[in-house]
Amino acid sequence: MNYIRLRKNNLCVENISTLTLAKKYRTPFYCYSLSQLKNNFYSFKNAFKIIKPIVAFSIKSNSNLALLKELKKIGSGADVVSVGELLKAIKAGINTKKIVFSGVGKTEEEIRMAIKKRVLLINVESESEVNLVNKISKKLSKKTSIGVRLNPNVTGKTHKKISTGGRGEKFGVTYNDCINLCEKILKMKNLKLEGLSVHIGSQITNIKPFKEVLSIINKIINKIKIDFKFIDLGGGMGISYSNKEQHLNLKQYSRLVKKFIKNKNVKIIFEPGRFIIGNTGILISKIIYIKKSNNKNFIILDAGMNDLMRPALYAAQHQIIPLRKTNKKFREIVEFVGPICESSDKFLTQRGFEKIKEGDYVALTHVGAYGMSLSSNYNTRPTIAEILVSGSKHKLIKKRQSLENLINN
Ligand SMILES: *Cc1c(COP(=O)(O)O)cnc(C)c1O
Repeated sequence: MNYIRLRKNNLCVENISTLTLAKKYRTPFYCYSLSQLKNNFYSFKNAFKIIKPIVAFSIKSNSNLALLKELKKIGSGADVVSVGELLKAIKAGINTKKIVFSGVGKTEEEIRMAIKKRVLLINVESESEVNLVNKISKKLSKKTSIGVRLNPNVTGKTHKKISTGGRGEKFGVTYNDCINLCEKILKMKNLKLEGLSVHIGSQITNIKPFKEVLSIINKIINKIKIDFKFIDLGGGMGISYSNKEQHLNLKQYSRLVKKFIKNKNVKIIFEPGRFIIGNTGILISKIIYIKKSNNKNFIILDAGMNDLMRPALYAAQHQIIPLRKTNKKFREIVEFVGPICESSDKFLTQRGFEKIKEGDYVALTHVGAYGMSLSSNYNTRPTIAEILVSGSKHKLIKKRQSLENLINN
């Protein structure tokens, strides 16, 4: 089901025309569909219903508090990678027994907070971290539940900057180190070894790497004979960013996991980010200028790479559509760029784009994940607003940062 679509040549989010929003709120801004968010969460749960996993939404993909509260209401847990994300998840009302703490460089302060809040699992990524978690737990007289993050040496066949499961990456511990570390943890008084976790990367659309990971986990379990309470399979489920692209077949993944847990007494945890939030959001931007130069039309938007970093960071391509469909086309190539003083501040180059003019609006699509959460104040630009649409209603869920706040620090 698609809640962001053209209706009578107008781009609409649920029942609201984006043009209405563009006139009401100052551009650029992010706009999300609540029904799309709920639809995605339920279709994820539904695809895996035979294994009843804990779904821990990856907060780094989008940490807007209003959206987190909505996710909490429909039963989501959280995967957090900093104390900030942990406190935000708790503030959204998410039960700490559904919160998993991941990350390769947790500080003492972060570990202490996670222990005090009694999160479900702290997923450790090195021997030094294990020692630190044990030491802090001892000081606090606690027995802390931990998981070990395995680096399975499986690459996700995705963009190299979002691949985390290869041998050469900083994440997790290798197969042999994992076995040794688990045996060491079993002897530590203030730790409870409850989980084995993996996360091999993001935007993976092919089932094969997930299949390989499951077989490696099986090998480890057979070797060390530990009954893990939780197997945390991470996130990474890929979505389709355009009509041409395939998304991951969740039903197929579900069948593999079902086979994997057969004869095991284990709870599966998933940490999806992009799959839940990716297609729920668009970025609405106004065309400031159109500049013709060397047979190319530069369409200069009021949104820049500081507002949406994915194209510059990962060479990601987000579709751009005018808020109102037109019939004429540009004869020249168009290149959508932002106002930032960087040549990588460009979003898309396209031939045969619909004819649009200065002052018109466009939407960059599928920007719900790693859009706002990756934004910055680069070029001393305020972070932009976020709007939530539900049915025929819309509301501001994050204010645009004020210039006063921006220049005072
Ligand atoms: C980023 C991340 C996720 C979420 O990845 P998606 O591709 O958005 O599903 C899950 N787990 C960990 C440990 C992560 O770092």
